[in-house]
Amino acid sequence: MKGIDSKSQFLDSWVTPRFTQPASFMRAPFATDDIDIALVGCPFDLGSANRAGTRHGPAQIREMSRLIRKVNGATGVAPFSLCRVGDAGDTPISPFDAGQSLEDAQSFYADLHARGIVPISAGGDHTVPLPVIRAIASTERPLAVVHFDAHSDTWDTLHGNRYNNATPFRRLIEEGLIDPKRLVQIGIRGTLFAQDDLDWPVAQGVRVITMDEYEDLGRDQVLAEARRIVGDAPVYVTYDVDGLDPVYCPGTGSPEPGGLSMRDSQVIIRGLRGLDVVGGDVCEVSPPLDPAGHTALNAANLMFEILCVAAEAQAARPDR
Ligand code: MN
Ligand code: MN
Repeated sequence: MKGIDSKSQFLDSWVTPRFTQPASFMRAPFATDDIDIALVGCPFDLGSANRAGTRHGPAQIREMSRLIRKVNGATGVAPFSLCRVGDAGDTPISPFDAGQSLEDAQSFYADLHARGIVPISAGGDHTVPLPVIRAIASTERPLAVVHFDAHSDTWDTLHGNRYNNATPFRRLIEEGLIDPKRLVQIGIRGTLFAQDDLDWPVAQGVRVITMDEYEDLGRDQVLAEARRIVGDAPVYVTYDVDGLDPVYCPGTGSPEPGGLSMRDSQVIIRGLRGLDVVGGDVCEVSPPLDPAGHTALNAANLMFEILCVAAEAQAARPDR
């Protein structure tokens, strides 16, 4: 962290107005070297069975992230001063080959991880945590996960396929890369295919907090519960924007009425301060379903909140 010059890290909006220059995430410089945190686009949407379009998510999130300033107004955290933050571009994608795309994305993240760089991604569909966590976790060091979503994403298969946006957390638990007892899912709701849809994650010890329970407990209690479950484990934060109520995210493939507010989501992520955050993502923004970009604006702000807690954790690591 020595020699950080925050002024060199991104365009100063007082000098270079925010509507000018090509869009990068939060106006960070494009860089993959000499950075502490990488903002990454993972435009993978070959894991969506229904309404598509999330391959365009990173581009629109970059565009809407122009609106984000340097300092978190609620916590005072200034991530670009704490860490060297770069937009590392997009992972490689083979548009006709899901398996190859996931392999290439994993290699991309593994390269960052080998150099001690923390990844914060914009999807893409919610298959994205699969290559990321495969790259940054190990069976000796399984991750805790704070997972915002309307859906548990722990099915075994979807249309006979094992690797898609409905199965990543099951695969990662099976692979020993996520500790199911330290996985907390917040915002779960919506119609089910069958009454036993949620039996598997619960049997593994996953803490599934449905919207009904969320309302009963209240925001502060849910945050306390999430912090207790994570404990001192390395933790990954993944936000599927369909965890939000559809009023906040018309542009997503599987909207479910009766969901989380942006306000509660921001407050809960801020409340993760002090945890050992090792990465995160915001997924399932589909710009063709919301050309106005409201969904992407919310996604960019969620990404900023994750960046703030990740930057504090990264800055506190002694080897940096
Ligand atoms: Mn999901
Ligand atoms: Mn979902």
